[in-house]
Amino acid sequence: MKPILILGAGPAGAAVALGLRRLGYAVTLISDWRRFAALEGVSQRVLEALRGAGLHQALADATLPSQRQVAWNAQQHAQNIEFLLDRPTFDRGLREDMRLAGVQLIEGRVLSVQSSASGHRVELDGGDTLLADFLVEARGRQAPSPGKGLRGPETVSLLNRWQGAPGVTASAVESLEDGWAWMARRADGQCYWQWTVDVASADLPGKAQLLDYCLERRQSSDFARAFFADSPSIDPQLHARSSTAILPAQVCGDNWIRVGDAAMAVDPLSGNGIFQSLSSALQAPVVINTLLRKPERAALAQRFHQQRVEQLFLRFARIGRDFYADEQRWAGQPFWQARRQWPDTQVAHATADFSALRIERMPVLRDGFVDEADVVITADQPLGIWHVQGGEVAPLVRRLVNEPADSVLAGLTVEQGRMVRGWLLGQGFKP
Ligand code: FAD
Repeated sequence: MKPILILGAGPAGAAVALGLRRLGYAVTLISDWRRFAALEGVSQRVLEALRGAGLHQALADATLPSQRQVAWNAQQHAQNIEFLLDRPTFDRGLREDMRLAGVQLIEGRVLSVQSSASGHRVELDGGDTLLADFLVEARGRQAPSPGKGLRGPETVSLLNRWQGAPGVTASAVESLEDGWAWMARRADGQCYWQWTVDVASADLPGKAQLLDYCLERRQSSDFARAFFADSPSIDPQLHARSSTAILPAQVCGDNWIRVGDAAMAVDPLSGNGIFQSLSSALQAPVVINTLLRKPERAALAQRFHQQRVEQLFLRFARIGRDFYADEQRWAGQPFWQARRQWPDTQVAHATADFSALRIERMPVLRDGFVDEADVVITADQPLGIWHVQGGEVAPLVRRLVNEPADSVLAGLTVEQGRMVRGWLLGQGFKP
């Protein structure tokens, strides 16, 4: 078989490449560099997930801890520590991780991909062509997305970057009448103000006036002025990025898979984009392994990937919706009105109800392949829970309908018993 071809060397493409190398596959990765310098905020949990995926070089010099402030709905508070990720450094580190893992790296821009049941033909800028049996689409938001999927309100983020006076590293989020802004300042004086607005209603000026307009808007916020301590703006740069939430209609086929932002791009308000891109990427190597080595389970493997991506996307979309709804000063303004009701009215976290638990056959990951098992479907976990503390829970829940808890849980170790009891109570079980 030809090497598996991955398009895009962001965190998702890199995580898939490492996972496939661990399973023994030859991997070729083609990527262009990002065309702008960005700073992104991530939590401790994301750093742990990146390390867990083996992306150590990527994190070596890329992070700065920062105290995050939030100004939302006329309230201000200092939130937890976030880490500011310098994307150019991070992206260079990802490639070093690839090189160390024996991934063949091709630097170049993909112009087109022609796919059929027998394989893929990828045309690069400069005229080269590559053929592949299996393709991983990880070009982020730039990946073409055929078919009708799900799209949130059209959104654009205007990233302003300039050199200010050196100071203390800090970051903050502020809600505004027609959007919200994320801002960060590095100790070396690099400043970032990212203003996210509604495409339909923002009424932005033309490209030539946009930088001045952004400056004017930033200066009109007392919060932003205090945050940047009125420092001078040297060498200001502006880059517009689409930040619409997008879920393509299909994210996996017999000989291809989409991961990261190419599989689901979330609203940057969640501050969780990298985490989400890793979630879909970490499960992909096992899905690919199943498609290639156990093609009789292809439908199951595709269902696994598709369902998990969709569920994660909707969960984060609903959490984002509730956060937008928390801002009540401008509920009638177009930006807020559209976002406080998208994607639907379903609650983000459903209340536990033990009597509503169901047991169903669902795809799970077992020994490097997608397999099928009985899982417990809960209100909050519609794809089901298979194991708690290393033990299957479906047989226990089945017996609890007719038997006392003490006898059902008697065979478990002390630690397992403690964890399973805790889980059952969390599901609304009343002993
Ligand atoms: P990417 O990181 O986008 O990587 C895709 C790669 O593919 C890039 O290297 C690109 O150069 C390459 N590529 C693209 N097209 C081609 C082509 N034709 N040929 C070859 N190569 C190509 N996430 C956070 O966790 N925290 C944040 O604070 C945060 N802020 C954000 C702010 C905005 C405005 C936006 C839009 C997103 C933000 N995100 C944030 C999300 C985060 O950037 C992404 O979720 C994450 O980078 C996705 O990883 P990925 O690997 O899927 O794609």
